Amino acid sequence: MDWVRADINGLKVYKESSSPYRIKLDANEGENILFMDISDIDLQILYDINRYPDSNADMLRHEISKYIGVNKDNIIAGNGSNAMIELVMKTFIESGDKVLSFVPTFGMYNIFSKIYNAEFIGVKSDEDFSLNMNSLIEKMEEIKPKLIMICNPNNPTGYLIPRAEIIKLLEDTDSLVIVDEAYIEFAEGSIVGEVENYKNLIVLRTFSKAIGLAGIRLGYMVSNIEIVNWVNKVKSPYNTNSLTQALGIIAMKKKDRISEYVQKVKSDREVLYIKLKQQGIRVYPSSSNFLFFHSDIKDLYKKLKEDGVLIRKFSGELEGYYRVTVGDRYENEEFIKSLKGAVI
Ligand SMILES: *Cc1c(COP(=O)(O)O)cnc(C)c1O
Repeated sequence: MDWVRADINGLKVYKESSSPYRIKLDANEGENILFMDISDIDLQILYDINRYPDSNADMLRHEISKYIGVNKDNIIAGNGSNAMIELVMKTFIESGDKVLSFVPTFGMYNIFSKIYNAEFIGVKSDEDFSLNMNSLIEKMEEIKPKLIMICNPNNPTGYLIPRAEIIKLLEDTDSLVIVDEAYIEFAEGSIVGEVENYKNLIVLRTFSKAIGLAGIRLGYMVSNIEIVNWVNKVKSPYNTNSLTQALGIIAMKKKDRISEYVQKVKSDREVLYIKLKQQGIRVYPSSSNFLFFHSDIKDLYKKLKEDGVLIRKFSGELEGYYRVTVGDRYENEEFIKSLKGAVI
């Protein structure tokens, strides 16, 4: 079609799996741990839905600020952290800029780079999927990217870059650095407390994983005041709807419940790790709420799917690799059962 921007050529519509399922472990969604009791939700908010929401999500940012221990003026809320990746690129990326990251990593970095007509360059992870900061810094010095995107812990591998390595990168570079901490609650070593100490650091967080609210679409970025001011000029007004803001505020007040859930996922992750190993599967250590593994079982994805168990499969260079979310205990057991069945 003549009107379509050339950069958009070749993009595909994002397709989630639409197969019927019993057990859904393909998207790293957390459990609904906070809103099982509907009476917890104060429906007073519904009286005001004829009004626009608070454009700056003031109360929500105040609660997030208490949760992460960073001033609320350093926070911008939005419609999921995907929207925040896009907003940052919209603010800073010009046609032809370079975006540097590790590969494999979260696929949206490449897609948003394409949309903003930037060149995405990936530094390959090591054989065991660990990420080598020295290689990234070397590449950075060679290509001088506008933006460096670090997913920490990394999706889909679960690898955690130690905090000191990220500090080393920040000390070494003038490029913008986005650290996507979608899964950091399941690990140690957040960098979010450093945003005031660097002129180029942006941290992204989400309510979709450890907080179990993927359906409300809520994420936020944290950075220094200068970057926040620029991004705010580009942000659409009223970008976070009032129901999402209200639920986000309640969620932030349940910090204990969230850490309890995170502890459970971490210990179940280790149980699942051992069970996969016992099946002779090559599984990688993970600092997230999922496990990345390799299996030679033919058509594993399809066999599990036919049994109603959804996991994520990869293709191309990652043919034979899979990612499974750490679900509740029943879901994890059903996954293992189904896996045992697939061997036969
Ligand atoms: C799941 C995920 C997100 C979260 O996206 P939302 O838009 O907040 O749901 C962001 N980054 C990574 C790496 C993820 O895996």
